[in-house]
Amino acid sequence: MVTVTHRSARARAIIALGATIAVASVAVAAPASGAPSVAASVVVAAGRPAPPAPSTSTGYGGAVSSVDAEASAIGLAVLRTGGNAVDAAVAAAAALGVTEPYSSGIGGGGYFVYFDAATGEVTTIDGRETAPADMPTTAFVDLATGQPYVFANAVSSGLSVGVPGTLATWQTALDRYGTRSLRQTLAPSIVLATRGFKVDATFAQQTADNQSRFAAFPATAKLFLPKGAPPVVGTTFRNLDLAKTYLRIALRGTDAFYQGAIADEIAALVQHPVTTPGATLPAYSGYMTADDIAGYRVLEQDATHIDYRGLDIYGMAPSSSGGTTVGESLNILENFDLSSASAAQSLHLYFEATAHAFADRNAYVGDPAFVDVPTETLLSQDFADARACVIDPDAASPKPVPPASLDAAGCTSVPAAEHADTENLSTTHLSVVDRWGNAVAYTLTIEQTGGSGMTVPGRGFLLNNELTDFSFTPTTPKDPNTVEPGKRPRSSMSPTIVLDDGDVRYVVGSPGGSMIITTVTQVLMNRIDLGMALPEAVAAPRASQRNSAAVAAEQGFRTAYEAQLSPFGHQFATSAEIGAVAAIEVGAGGLMTAVAEPVRRGGGTALVVKPTK
Ligand code: GLU
Repeated sequence: MVTVTHRSARARAIIALGATIAVASVAVAAPASGAPSVAASVVVAAGRPAPPAPSTSTGYGGAVSSVDAEASAIGLAVLRTGGNAVDAAVAAAAALGVTEPYSSGIGGGGYFVYFDAATGEVTTIDGRETAPADMPTTAFVDLATGQPYVFANAVSSGLSVGVPGTLATWQTALDRYGTRSLRQTLAPSIVLATRGFKVDATFAQQTADNQSRFAAFPATAKLFLPKGAPPVVGTTFRNLDLAKTYLRIALRGTDAFYQGAIADEIAALVQHPVTTPGATLPAYSGYMTADDIAGYRVLEQDATHIDYRGLDIYGMAPSSSGGTTVGESLNILENFDLSSASAAQSLHLYFEATAHAFADRNAYVGDPAFVDVPTETLLSQDFADARACVIDPDAASPKPVPPASLDAAGCTSVPAAEHADTENLSTTHLSVVDRWGNAVAYTLTIEQTGGSGMTVPGRGFLLNNELTDFSFTPTTPKDPNTVEPGKRPRSSMSPTIVLDDGDVRYVVGSPGGSMIITTVTQVLMNRIDLGMALPEAVAAPRASQRNSAAVAAEQGFRTAYEAQLSPFGHQFATSAEIGAVAAIEVGAGGLMTAVAEPVRRGGGTALVVKPTK
């Protein structure tokens, strides 16, 4: 990272190469007549102050929504020049690796949901990080005391790093459904990383929040604390190391990451975390080897599906709990006529639905390669109807509610295991629809804001701490999310695509740990049942009931609804901010409404190819 005004010869060389690739990309995928080329758009995007960042745009011809202005602009440039939704999603995701390096990047993983308008099919790519083959089931237990490691200590360590899946996801998405190469889609972000982006308050604050642990890892301190302090708002942040890494991958393909020097360096860092002299973090060693990295494979599996009030809702199957838990919550809600209920009544039912769905998630969902996950049952309307029968429309049930018996014949429950949920505001989501009606919902992450805190020296990206999504200690009854070698930790990521009579209607997703599930559910309920337009449904204050004594709620939610909901028996605890949604609606005549957060996370950017105003 450099913050000088005059670019070094190295920077100029990288820009020149990135621009060359961008130009070559455009030559291969000639743009529609009159449209600006990718290269031109990128030069404009990267060379001027931050691009415009509306949180809502309406129009035609394609739409992109993400948390970041640069990423949305790059995604839009791809759509404008004839790329499809997958090309745009991968290009925007690569940009997020530059501008949102604490939330996403090639050191992490994610889940990609794709709707193909030509075939009418929804498919998914599971790029979740995996536990190394040698990781023992007791990895997060201090064998000297028999106690689990302190969560924060486990986060900033080699132990927490899962084998990254993001780059393999991009390559697979492009191979299966894209029209452009990985080289073409990385090109704009090579330029972006080299020219830099303007530091905003969110980026500066995220750095400051992580300053002490970033300082404990020399490569991270060098990159993200350039003068021993977080970058100053308004300055330009460049990441030449990442530009070089992207360039290497652009030229040599994903093997340049999964094999050879970079893979060796990742494995070495995980096994022997390098800390700054005097740092007090325990920085536990992990088990990842170069073989684990070379052996990483994405999974392509069926999307989850439910019917909700005549719409088809598709999501991510386990190892994410997103699809099953959003699906079960909505199936439960379908037992009630929310459109004629009061706001308080609807919100009470929403809390009860998600609490019950979370009880079942915690009891039954893990990596299906290791656990027999009853995905079909959890998504069945009969099962949800049985759950709904224990919900009192006028009173909150005592929390935690027990999980259901898998026998859907009655309202029976089974004992619950102990459960702890993490929640944070890391991770990022992007939604894309193209002119052909193809759609992508893609949520990607490095887990905590700043992941493990460990940057691969000289490579410009942070490694994830996804393995802290595992339950740390084995429990009785057996927790489906305990650590096992080669297993994927249970996720809450919920990239969601909603079809109406075979056409895309909504694309939704969010970060927020386990609050992702309630956020996606609440936004869908707001839009489908409570009569809010999509921008309103996204901006509305949020609350999250994940089967705990108190509902986590934003202050705005408490102010608006607590007095009405307390008589039901709900208690509240304030959460500063819940989620950061990026969504798109396709309405009558193909009118697209792209919506990002107006305020949360500093506000996102939603763009359309041909705005109507
Ligand atoms: N690690 C989380 C999950 O997979 C996502 C990160 C977050 O948003 O907290 O569910």
